[in-house]
Amino acid sequence: MRRINVTIWNEFVHEKEDRIRKIYPDGIHGAIAQMLGRDKKYNIRIATLEMEEHGLTEDVLNATDVLIWWGHCAHSEVSDEVATRVRNRVLGGMGLIVLHSGHRSKPFVMLMGMDCRLKWRENDEKERIWVIEPAHPIARNLPEYIELPMEETYGEKFDVPTPDELVFISWFSGGDVFRSGCCYKRGNGKIFYFRPGHEEYPTFYREDISQVIKNAVDWAAPTNGPISTVGHWEALEKVEDKFAGRPDSERLHTYITK
Ligand code: ZN
Repeated sequence: MRRINVTIWNEFVHEKEDRIRKIYPDGIHGAIAQMLGRDKKYNIRIATLEMEEHGLTEDVLNATDVLIWWGHCAHSEVSDEVATRVRNRVLGGMGLIVLHSGHRSKPFVMLMGMDCRLKWRENDEKERIWVIEPAHPIARNLPEYIELPMEETYGEKFDVPTPDELVFISWFSGGDVFRSGCCYKRGNGKIFYFRPGHEEYPTFYREDISQVIKNAVDWAAPTNGPISTVGHWEALEKVEDKFAGRPDSERLHTYITK
């Protein structure tokens, strides 16, 4: 069995308040680690904001197949250097799962190239997550919809690039809708944004939510495809170099006047 190296990153700030600690005594990362840990396929590592280099050194990222990210109130405390390192690793092939309020995290915003803002409301509304791509790997073993009795409401427009694939759409009892399962490819890496998971609700203990996260990790894991060459490239076939020995300026001139 091929094991997948998963690093769960959590800013781990809210869970230090009594109110939130009651819901996630081991932190949100602890709840996610527990549910992924039941499957021996996943080799799990934890990283948090307070750790040296936020727990995301070059060595850790190079040994990570899929990074899961939960953040909310401390996005600005993540160093630009670490955020850029995460971005570069995704372009190099690491999978990235961004949960809930991670939509405004530095690595996600960098990779999307947009503000990633949205409407929100904390009103204990019901969320119904509809699977709109049943054949997608992230929909494996899911029911037609997942109903969360209470969650934070997010609403469109979600200011992100149009997803390469949209797996879920959420409806909220307040009337809002939201693109809640968005897939992107960036460089050699895959990114999945998954909406639910506000810290005030026990969402990450649910079997159906666990199934989505496991499916997303499996989908985002690197597939060991070829590493593409960039830059100057010699022709594979025998072709005459018409500009051999002539200056570059001439090459350009010929191209323009053709
Ligand atoms: Zn939230």
